[in-house]
Amino acid sequence: MKKLTIVNEIPEKFLEINYRDIKEIFDRPTLVHLKGDKEPPLFISILLHGNEFSGLQIMQEILTKYQEDGYYHLPRSIWLFVGNVEAASLGLRRQDDELDFNRAWPGTPHPDAPTSRLIAEVMEKITGNALFAALDLHNNTGTNPALRMHLCCQ
Ligand SMILES: [Zn+2]
Repeated sequence: MKKLTIVNEIPEKFLEINYRDIKEIFDRPTLVHLKGDKEPPLFISILLHGNEFSGLQIMQEILTKYQEDGYYHLPRSIWLFVGNVEAASLGLRRQDDELDFNRAWPGTPHPDAPTSRLIAEVMEKITGNALFAALDLHNNTGTNPALRMHLCCQ
């Protein structure tokens, strides 16, 4: 059973942490909601593949840029999903005994897998209200970071 943690803040340690140490902050897959000036929120997912750390680095850069006195002054609200923290801590794309976090979105052929149920929980939460857009950040074998758009939600 994979349990989702939902929080409304990000510890300052996030800004400098190495992906292998991510469990020091988030010991389970975590959905973070941060308020910004504009709504609806932008959804961003990182570490769906545990060893693809570009998304974490991008979010560290962005949040550092908008941080002031311990607060984040974001131009738009965000949902940040920090996905496979267990695999990240192991330096792996995924664990052997689990469904790939990026094969678990709605429409997956394995809707009953624990990973799919976790992602369904994320989807339910983020689609409760309007979304601006969804970004899923991965590494690839060429120039990183790679950006891919998930065309989910309105
Ligand atoms: Zn990936």
